[in-house]
Amino acid sequence: PVDMVERLGRMLKGSAAPRSVLAVAGVDLAVREGEVIGLVGESGCGKSTLGRMLTGILPPSAGQILYKGTPVNKLTPVLRREYDLGVQMIFQDPYSSLNPRMRVLDIIGEGPVVHGLVKRSGKEAYVSELMQKVGLDPAYRFRYPHQFSGGQRQRIGVARALALKPSVLVCDEAVAALDVSIQAQVLNLFIQLRHEFALTYIFISHNLGVVSHISDRVAIMYLGRIVELADTDTIFSRANHPYTQALIKELPVLRTGQRQFDPIKGELPSPIDPPPGCPFHPRCPMAMDRCKVERPLLRDINSGGVQHLSACHLNQETP
Ligand code: SF4
Ligand code: MG
Repeated sequence: PVDMVERLGRMLKGSAAPRSVLAVAGVDLAVREGEVIGLVGESGCGKSTLGRMLTGILPPSAGQILYKGTPVNKLTPVLRREYDLGVQMIFQDPYSSLNPRMRVLDIIGEGPVVHGLVKRSGKEAYVSELMQKVGLDPAYRFRYPHQFSGGQRQRIGVARALALKPSVLVCDEAVAALDVSIQAQVLNLFIQLRHEFALTYIFISHNLGVVSHISDRVAIMYLGRIVELADTDTIFSRANHPYTQALIKELPVLRTGQRQFDPIKGELPSPIDPPPGCPFHPRCPMAMDRCKVERPLLRDINSGGVQHLSACHLNQETP
């Protein structure tokens, strides 16, 4: 059972950088148990930072991350352990996240042994079962990462995360490095494992098309802020925010496989020095004078219905 609510405040300090970078700000996101929530935005928009904070790799410098209602830095040792094991991350590059000198048996099996989830004597059987669950032949358990294809390596990464019996998986661009045909297979694996292991996913991607396959709800991020959040069908049928509408226009036309050439104009501004007012205004075809000076708040535009949040002044013209 997971009730993970994530509240982040104003600033995030770049871990190594000497100056503060506004990477994620004003994000207030509750992740519901058992759901798949997609986080979409261009690279540099703060998605990965948010993912790393959720898994505890990166501490937020302000604001807080709550696990079962308690800030993660104030968890009791028992809950802290549950959080550390229970929230696992799947990375974009399966190769660089796997130790090249370790056999798959150890990559997947050492963590659970060290954490006392399985006895050392049971490790091989435990790993073999997990390899089967993710579609790998257990006979390959003595092989090394370089002996596998990209898609297989991502399956190893998934098995390594599952070995710690997580309830939440944060997947950061988890299929982006794979060939398109392999992407679909790995996405299907995620969908299958979700039900089998009762997982909650936070699925981070720059690709709205990829996210839509797997997500119940989608959060669209721009320059470190959520600008729209709704269930997936609503995002596609009734996108409200001009940035979301532009992202949808950029999706390939599914039937013909052709791309509509209507790219979002302009560069993504630096998150260190975001534009005043609505951060999307320099690129927004609908921008008004007000947008240059006043930041729109994220509000529920679906009064009385299912939550549909959007941050755009166009909604506030007709209250
Ligand atoms: Fe565009 Fe203004 Fe809405 Fe921002 S607030 S998305 S600039 S219309
Ligand atoms: Mg990223």
